[in-house]
Order: sequence, then structure tokens, then C-alpha cells
Amino acid sequence: MFNFLSNKPLHDPLADPAPGAINEVKCTTCYMCACRCGIRVHLRDGALRYIDGNPNHPLNQGVICAKGASGIMKQQSPARLKQPLLRKAGSERGAGEFEPIAWERAYGLLTERLRHIRATDPKKFALFTGRDQMQALTGLFARQFGTPNYAAHGGFCSVNMAAGMIYTIGGSFWEFGGPDLDRARLFVMIGTAEDHHSNPMKIALSKFKRAGGRFISINPIRTGYSAIADEWIPIRPGTDGALFMALLHELIRTDTLDHGFLKRFTNAPQLVVLDEGEREGLFAFDPDPEKGPPGDGRHPHNKLVWDKSSGRVLNAYPEGIADGCDPALGGHYTLADGTRVAPSFQLLRERVAACSPEWAAAITGIPAERIRKLAFEMGHAALTQAFELPIPWTDAWGKLHPTTQARPLAFHAMRGLAAHSNGFQTVRALAVLMSVLGTIDAPGGFRHKAPYPRHIVPNYRAFNAPEMIQPNTPLNAAPLGFPASPDELAINPDGSPIRIDHAFSWEHPLSAHGLMHNVITNAVKGDPYRIDTLLIFMANMAWNSSMNTMAVREMLNRKDEHGEYMIPFLVVCDAFNSETVAFADLVLPDTTYLERHDVMSMLDRPISEFDGPVDSVRVPVLPRTGECRPFQEVLIELASRLQFPAFTTGEGTRKFKDYPDFVINFQPQPGIGFLMGWRGKDGSQHLRGEPNPKQWEMYAQNNCVFQYPLPEGMHYMRNWNRAYLDFAKDKGWRQKNDPVQLALYSDTLQGFRRAAQGKTTGRQPPEGLRERIATYFDPLPFWYAPLEEAAIDLQAYPLNAVTQRPMAMYHSWDSQNAWLRQIHSHNYLHVNPLTAQAAGIEDGGWCWVESRWGQVRCMLRTNEAFEPGTVWTWNAIGKADGAWQLASGADESRKGFLLNHLTSEELPFDGGSISNSDPITGQAGWYDVRVRIRPADPGEAEESFPQIKATPAPPGVRDVGERVLRYFAKGAKP
Ligand code: SF4
Repeated sequence: MFNFLSNKPLHDPLADPAPGAINEVKCTTCYMCACRCGIRVHLRDGALRYIDGNPNHPLNQGVICAKGASGIMKQQSPARLKQPLLRKAGSERGAGEFEPIAWERAYGLLTERLRHIRATDPKKFALFTGRDQMQALTGLFARQFGTPNYAAHGGFCSVNMAAGMIYTIGGSFWEFGGPDLDRARLFVMIGTAEDHHSNPMKIALSKFKRAGGRFISINPIRTGYSAIADEWIPIRPGTDGALFMALLHELIRTDTLDHGFLKRFTNAPQLVVLDEGEREGLFAFDPDPEKGPPGDGRHPHNKLVWDKSSGRVLNAYPEGIADGCDPALGGHYTLADGTRVAPSFQLLRERVAACSPEWAAAITGIPAERIRKLAFEMGHAALTQAFELPIPWTDAWGKLHPTTQARPLAFHAMRGLAAHSNGFQTVRALAVLMSVLGTIDAPGGFRHKAPYPRHIVPNYRAFNAPEMIQPNTPLNAAPLGFPASPDELAINPDGSPIRIDHAFSWEHPLSAHGLMHNVITNAVKGDPYRIDTLLIFMANMAWNSSMNTMAVREMLNRKDEHGEYMIPFLVVCDAFNSETVAFADLVLPDTTYLERHDVMSMLDRPISEFDGPVDSVRVPVLPRTGECRPFQEVLIELASRLQFPAFTTGEGTRKFKDYPDFVINFQPQPGIGFLMGWRGKDGSQHLRGEPNPKQWEMYAQNNCVFQYPLPEGMHYMRNWNRAYLDFAKDKGWRQKNDPVQLALYSDTLQGFRRAAQGKTTGRQPPEGLRERIATYFDPLPFWYAPLEEAAIDLQAYPLNAVTQRPMAMYHSWDSQNAWLRQIHSHNYLHVNPLTAQAAGIEDGGWCWVESRWGQVRCMLRTNEAFEPGTVWTWNAIGKADGAWQLASGADESRKGFLLNHLTSEELPFDGGSISNSDPITGQAGWYDVRVRIRPADPGEAEESFPQIKATPAPPGVRDVGERVLRYFAKGAKP
């Protein structure tokens, strides 16, 4: 028996645990979250023993988090799916009754079905993927299939952050840019708790704080990174835009601005037409044909400025920036033809004039004096504490800048800003705030990561031609892109949506990432049409990836008058038995990240650093489990069997043996492939070159990562840096080498607005959407209340409810993890003590949380780290009973809960309904939901509500916990 008082160790930790065993260390890339750190996987006799951070990896430099180190328990998960499954004939969806089938049968079923759809009506196939990292491949598959109905998870994640920033400064936070904490003096983090840049952010924050930097966190909740902030400023959810507008008000009022930057590098001095008529609200232009077409999102450079020195109008480039010219940022002027104009910055000045700190204080809950001081602190950091780096660079118009101007004020923001129906304009306001202080791609400010910055608007047009949906024909454009005008919307001649999720329609014109949260609802409603097959990869749509979870579960089971499911065929590809698997007609078992090849490619989502592009790979370090096959391999196989042109030779044979072969040999442009390192036949070329048959081996020998350090002269000011722009074009990262002027004023948005106002001759929105477009497509940022507020009684639902992803878990993936479950096995509703007291609920007590859309019962904890008007919880810890092979009655299902039951994917609109999303981008308004709380009755069951009946374990999935326990048994091999 174990003697608790003995000082004798259970075993000698220094002794060789398995004499004679073969110990190996293999490098690959973590996928316990989206951060993509380098890891070392330690194996004994080929079995996984231990994972640690790779010290030679540029991203995490050896740092690993709790999730990363616990990958071993994901590999051992009892919830692993191990063979293809077909729903048993006669069983109901959701019952989880399956028969195992061979891959050949699964491929046969799917190929036959997809071949028929492709030959008849390709749009009846929809491919929607969750948190995957291979959108260049999935997007290519959909395009080659010929369906526009494709998107990844961005529409319900952070498309507002991506689109709001890209349409304003040409880049965005996280993988495409971020705060330069090595040189910043003040760091303002807003709407971020713990994000996708986790370990690098922790490393950077640690250095920043040790160097004496000041860190201010603005957030309704003080969690995550905010724990080490020097100051926490609580703010009401959904009001960040009002704060930014007030900060702009203060900075402009006090003339705390980077005038030189605004005049040369932004559209602030460019003249906007004020008169009614064809060009109203658009930029004035030079009609000389040599100056190019009038300025718009695709042709941004033919604009005019008012030169204060000469008192006349000049072309913005190059005359308007010539030495001696002084473009006006304020005032009103008249052109020679009598047209009244004003610099766009004058219009911004007029816009923010009413947005005083007192105005914002009433909205945000932040005292007016604190807002004023914040504006001062920002201006002080950016302008007074500014310095120059001795790095000369030449701008796009040939001017040599002998030094590089640092602006040591850095921001970071993410989903807290994005996941609101006012998120796009809020993010625009932040980007404008960052711009007026000159912090864009400046040392100490926001810095881009290759392949960004993109053009404003990026040269990626989404598919927009319904006549191009033809049998057995690829689309003539990618399903996703960045529209620059109504002409680029995916709509039918009558203005109705082409896509099943209504993306790129008049409902959500700039929905660059699609609207995954509306796919099931729309498909079941047949709006705009019924589909046949929905293929979902790695998204838990029957649980934590859907708003209105219970309704979505019901919809997945809904049948038409003929007894056929409204979505006739549902294919789910996942590595684990999630809540969604039970609803599938066909289940395709995916591998784990340790069992497959992957690429983090410059063609979609690389892991670039500020100083140069970086891409990386995963290589298999373990054999595949059971019959699992990576989803990439499934796509290559299906594409080959269906004989997509890009996957088939001229002789009709398959072009690519498998996924690794595809990665090496597929080239969207000559010399450009999925991986940029070790190209050329012998691996001696980088960035561009012929395919190298040994490319995978070279990555595997080099920590699975390739880094290309750019020369110092290309490190900054890349929107306008001539050397960088030429280099980026040459390497295929951009189509033009034009400079990217910051769009403080968005004539692209104004183009949509004018169409809605009936002032254009081209495409115009349906009558019912005119006012919506005209209101929200404002060329200048503004704050408006989240849309849900118009649909509810604010007195009845006085609190905001928000969620965060816990540091120790990545969405639903990790509540099955035997180690991580020891940190969280259930969640609480966290509430300020004053709020709980007012509701009569004790710390630790059971309570009801109610919205207009639903209710949950859960346990409550009090803490002063929460803004009193906000209730909050961890996301995706709550589980359906028995899902993920947790034991029936596990804490996750009995005490854990989901806030998703309180959100609706639709809002009432114009006598019908419309997606509960940002009206510009379609970003899901997760954090808009308003709630009230009340104590549970003493006699009520002490368990969370709603409860879901457990479904049987699918064939091949192990009994609960057995394998995990055996892992610890002495001498046993996992
Ligand atoms: S931060 Fe994410 S990618 Fe990095 S080690 Fe942790 S789980 Fe893995």
C-alpha cells in the first residue's frame, strides 16, 4: 500500500524508464489552438510520451502553453472517431445510430452524389469548414466544383476585425499584423482576452513590461492578458466604437495629430464632392484621361487636394505631395467648375465634433475625464515620445526618407470588438484612430506581416455571376473575396442572394468570410433555395458553433412534406465524436494534427513575422489511428475522382497522388506554390521557383518552418515602401505595386450607400434594404447601438452577456482532454457582486439567465473583475450528456452550460427576419445578446438547463475513459 508519510520516491525520475527503448524527438507544429507554435514530440518506441515547445521555432521560441503540452491527451482521447460511419437505414438523425463502412464505400457514395450534383446544379453542394487552416485548398475545391456555397468559420469569428482593418489600412491584427511591443511605450489592448497569437503575445508582453512599457486594458472583463495590465478600464460591451469616436474628438480638438503622415500617406487631404449629383460623397478627380479613371476602390489614385501654399487644386499624386506643397486637412473649397469640395479629414472633423467624452461616457460607462486623459496619453506616446530609427527608405513616389519615424503607441484588438453587429464601423474607428497618430507600419505601432498589406480594396473579387454556375464547370472566381462596388456582389438580376448563406448579397455586402452561422437555417428554409448536400468539416454546428443551438438541432432533423430531410444529405468530417456527429448521414474520421501533413501557407494563413514572411508545416509524427484519413487527403481524392480540371491531366488521369504531392506540385502562378521555402528542383530557391520533390523533407529537417528575413529597408512603412511593394509584387503576394493609401474616408462604402439612395444607375438594393444600406454604409466611422437592442425591451433585459475562450481550452476540442479537464470541468456565470446582490443570487448559487430568445440555468460566481452591467462565462465547456465520450452525468453536462442557447441567429426585420449579424460584413452578433438573471427556486434540480439525452457511442469509439486510465498504468503502452 502507498505510504503517504514515506520520503522514498515512487520511482527514480533520473533513471532510464525503459532501458533499451528507442527514444526519438520529432518536430512539427501544434494545433491545440490556432496559434501554430513549433513543438517537439518525444516518442519512446514510436509511442507518444511528451510534448514540449521547440526552442528553435521563431513564433514561440520554446514556450508552450497548457493546451500544447496536453496534446498527448487529445491523441489518447476516447472520443476519437476511427472509421467511416453511415447512418443506419431507418434510424433518425441525432439518434447516433451508425454502421461502420469502408473508405471505398464512403468515397463511392460521396463521389456518386457529388458527381450528380455537379452535373446538374452545382450550387446544391455546400462546403462549410470550421477552424481549419487550409482555406486555399478548401476554397479551390469549392471553386473547381462550381459551387459558390463555401466558407470557413470567419463569419462567426472575427470577420469584422479583418474586413474593418483591411478596408481601412490594408492589413489586420493577429496573423496579418500586430503591435510592435519591442518598441512601443504605451500598449492599449481592447476587446481581447486571450487570442490566437497566444504564446508570442505572452512573450512580447513579458518583454514589454520588463522594459517599463505601460499596458492599459480596456475590456468589460479583467481576465487573460488583462491580469497583468497596469490599468484596467471597464467598458460596456458593444460600445467601443463610441470610445474611439470620443478619442478622435479629443485628438482632433487638441490638434494632437501626425499631420505629415496624414497628408502624405492617407486620403485625409483628398477632396470629397459635397454637391448633390453623380459624384456626391465621392472623391473629386482629374478628368484628364492620362490621370486614369475616377477614384474608386479599384482605382484609388486619381484624386485631388487643395494646396494651401499656392491656393489651388492639385492632383493628389505626385503634385500634391511635391516639396513646397501643403495639402489642406480642413476647410471647404470650390473647384474651377463650381463644385463644392472639402478634404475628407474636414468631414471626419465634423463627424466627431458631437462625439464628446461626455457623450461617450454615457454610452461606455467610462468617465469623461478618463477618456480625455486616455487621448492625452495616446498622443503623448505617439508624438512626444516618438523617436527615429536610422533606417532609410524610399516611398512609392521616389522620396527618400533618411530615417524611419517611430510612433511608440501600439494597439491590439480582436473579437471583443468584432463580434457585434456594429463591429465593422467600430473597427474602422479604431483603424482611423491608429492612423491619425501615424502608427501604421511604424516602429512601435501596428506592423504588417507578409503578404500584407493588401490593396484597399484587395484585388480579390468574389464570385458574382449567377450565369457562371454551370454543370461540370469551375467558377470563374473564388467563392470569397472583397467587393469594391455593388457590381461585385453575388446577386441575381432581381437583387436576391446567389449564396445559401446570403453572403455578398445586399443583406451583408462585404461578407468576406461568408456566414456559416446562417447556412443551416437558410438551407432548411429553402432561402434562397434548397440544397442537397452539406459537408461540414471541424465545426460543431449542433452545439457551440451555432447561435440558437436547440433550434439548429431541430432543424437538422426537420423533414419536408415528403418525409425527406430539409437538408437531404449531411456529411460531417471530424476527428472526434462531437455533438454534431450524431446528426450526420455520413461521418468521415479525420486524423489528429500529429498524424498528418498540413501547411500554414502564404496562399492563405501563414505565420509571418513583422520582419519577413514565415510559413510552416505539420508532418506526421505518429501513425494514423484506425481508419482515420486527413480531410485534405479526402478532398484531393474526391477532386481527382470527380475529375476537377485543376486535379486532372490532359489525358484524364489524376494529377496528384495525394495531399503531400499536391502541396509540392500545385502552382496557382508559375513558381508560386503552397510552400515558399526550398523551392527549385534542388531546393536552392526561396519564395518563388519550380517545385522541389524534396520540399517536405527540407521543412522536416528545419523545424517545420521557413523564415525569409527581409532587408531592414523593407521592415516598415510597407503601404508606401517602394522596395517592398516591388518585391511583394515580384513574389506574387500582390498583383500591383501601387502604394496603399489609408482609407480614413471610404469611398467604397459611399458607393454602396449611393446605390441604396437611388443615386446610381447600376445595381440597387431591394426596397426593403435601401434604408439599412444607406444607414450603415457610412463612409466615415460612427457608433450605433447593436442591432439586437431594437428588437428587445432594454428594461426587461438590462445586462449584456458575453463569453471568452478559456486559456486552457480551445473551443469544444479540449473539454475531452483528461489533463485540461482538471483545470475546468464546468463553467459558472461570472457576475459583479453588486449585480448578483441586486438580483438576490448568492455566490455559488444556481440561477436562471434569460434572454428574449432562450434561457439557461447555471451556477453563478461573483467577482469584482467584471463590469457591473455585464455577465460573462467561458465558452464551450458545457457539453451535451455523453458527447465527446465524457461519462454520462459528467460535470461538463450537469454543471457546465452554453450561452449559445440565449442567442438567436436571426432578428426580426421588415416583417420577416434577417441574420443577427453586422449589416456590412455578416459577422455574427454573438456579444450583442441582452439578458436578465434571477435565482433558481430552491426546489429546482441543481443541474444546468437545458439537458440533452445521451446518444450511443458510434462504432469504433472506445468506452469512456478506459484508454486514458490505461495510459497511466505502470509499464503499459498507450
Ligand atoms: S498557444 Fe496554441 S499553438 Fe501554441 S502551444 Fe499553446 S495550444 Fe499550441
